[in-house]
Amino acid sequence: MQAVTYDVVVIGSGAAGGMAAWNLSRQGVNVLLLDAGTRFNPASYWSHVKPWEWNARLDRGQRPPAFRLDPREQPIELAQPFDLWRVWGRGGRTNIWGRVSLRYGDVDFEGPAKDGWEVAWPIRYMDIAPYYDKVDQLIGVSGGADDSDVLPGSRYHLPPPAPRCGEQLLKKAASSIGIRMVAGRRAVLTRPHNGRAACHYCGACGRGCDIAAFFNSSDYLIQPALKTGRVKVIDNAVVARVLTGDDGRANGVQYFDRYTKAERQVKARTVVVAAGAIDSTRILLNSKSSRHPNGIGNANDVIGRYLCEQIRFHMYGFLPQLLGSAVTNDDGITGEHVYLPRFNHRSPRQYLRGFGMQLWGCGAQANANYAKLMDGFGASFKTAVKKRYPALVALHPYGEVLPYRDNRVTVEGTANDQYGVPVARIEFKIGENERKMAAEMYDTAEAILRAAKAEVLPYRRGTVDMPGAAIHEHGTCRMGADPKRSALNGFCQMHEVPNVFVMDGSAFPTATEKNPTLTILALAWRASDYLAGQLKSRTL
Ligand SMILES: Cc1cc2nc3c(=O)[nH]c(=O)nc-3n(C[C@H](O)[C@H](O)[C@H](O)COP(=O)(O)OP(=O)(O)OC[C@H]3O[C@@H](n4cnc5c(N)ncnc54)[C@H](O)[C@@H]3O)c2cc1C
Ligand code: SF4
Repeated sequence: MQAVTYDVVVIGSGAAGGMAAWNLSRQGVNVLLLDAGTRFNPASYWSHVKPWEWNARLDRGQRPPAFRLDPREQPIELAQPFDLWRVWGRGGRTNIWGRVSLRYGDVDFEGPAKDGWEVAWPIRYMDIAPYYDKVDQLIGVSGGADDSDVLPGSRYHLPPPAPRCGEQLLKKAASSIGIRMVAGRRAVLTRPHNGRAACHYCGACGRGCDIAAFFNSSDYLIQPALKTGRVKVIDNAVVARVLTGDDGRANGVQYFDRYTKAERQVKARTVVVAAGAIDSTRILLNSKSSRHPNGIGNANDVIGRYLCEQIRFHMYGFLPQLLGSAVTNDDGITGEHVYLPRFNHRSPRQYLRGFGMQLWGCGAQANANYAKLMDGFGASFKTAVKKRYPALVALHPYGEVLPYRDNRVTVEGTANDQYGVPVARIEFKIGENERKMAAEMYDTAEAILRAAKAEVLPYRRGTVDMPGAAIHEHGTCRMGADPKRSALNGFCQMHEVPNVFVMDGSAFPTATEKNPTLTILALAWRASDYLAGQLKSRTL
């Protein structure tokens, strides 16, 4: 029997792959979606299991869904510590993401062209703005009416939740020293939207939302895509390589069954790689052939390099006005209700790029972990901890890490995984630019807490979280106008192999200080529109 040749094989079903599969299929394109995992069943989530029921359930041998991939199943090699989060399963990391959904502005898109650090973005805000609008309407993003050069607004935002008391007081304190905070922007439904129920403020988002009141690619994109009848999903298909013909063009994909380890191949006219930045890069680098000895599309040795993300740290304090006040339910949509956009581009500074600040964890929410940082014992200690519970505020600045050539993913000389495929190795260090930026991030967080007259919990100035902790990997297959210095064009299409598209965060030339998923969705929508057009016109 003749093997089927799919119009498009999409690798990965997270934000990027889900968007590609949904958008292509609704335009009449036949898609095969390969994912290393399977669908998480919302009925099995422990979203509403009470804290005191957990231990009894665990004792009975029950377990919540294991979203985070165990590195023993799929190892990674590290030159320095790097906290890589992977979720294998339909929807990928969007099943448990933090939902912060910030548009990039021209400050972001024009940054590298202006300061000259590495390659310029080949697109500007006007190119992507219509796609941000479409994504906002499709997935539902709550946020305010604020609109600025650094954080463009949206007329499609759903209403934002009210700031918690601590957030309101921090906002006032920041404003008193000239720093603006705005409503947080989160892909959480604060009112019913497109037939989905609104969030009921249960505070369980990190365990998966069983009513899909926040965007996840499985429910919002893949389920509707399956309804078109033009998408086939193969679960537990761990892709190893993109296959190429004698002409150097992609003609299929090799994968292994996750459990039986059987090797399989499928044929394709075009391939969309969307397995998350690190795994997409690994697949591309492992796709070697006589035409692509350095990995597919990598004659210029760009793929794998320029890995970038964000530095971040955390500072906690207690606001005097709230000490000992009545404990209220501050869960809200979990995470922040307000956000501090980048402001440092308005004045001269000693480093490139910038930082913003997230404020999750303010007020009486999940637990009183801060007690571990407090001195004391006995009854007076308990009273002191309780008094502080409603008064907690938490500041989490995120600063851009520049794309450095030697921060990279490689597969040369690494061990093989259980399918005989070389695993990825990550090398990642921050530089002087980030250390200078971190100093100003600390100054800013301290100044806000001082202005709020907060009691500040101890912290070690200058320290930042382990690399990878921001869970925003970018840059390892970057887009750009110059084929010598970039791997993709502005439509995520490979310069060297035009029937391969790479649609996840690896396509970004810079990380910015912002969370990337809204932009991944918008770029993947734009790129898959372009791909559908190319297929229709038989250009590809
Ligand atoms: C706890 C947490 C909080 C986060 N908070 C935020 C936030 O607030 N805002 C934000 O913008 N982002 C946030 N993120 C990051 C966000 O989840 C990612 O940016 C986004 O999911 C990336 O989409 P993706 O499609 O590139 O990759 P993923 O969502 O990781 O999807 C990758 C897909 O590829 C599949 N896959 C991997 N390897 C293979 C292979 N070899 N073969 C076949 N399939 C494969 C996986 O099964 C998965 O379906 C958070 C992430 C986590 C874990
Ligand atoms: S807080 Fe809202 S979005 Fe989060 S799990 Fe509960 S209902 Fe879902």
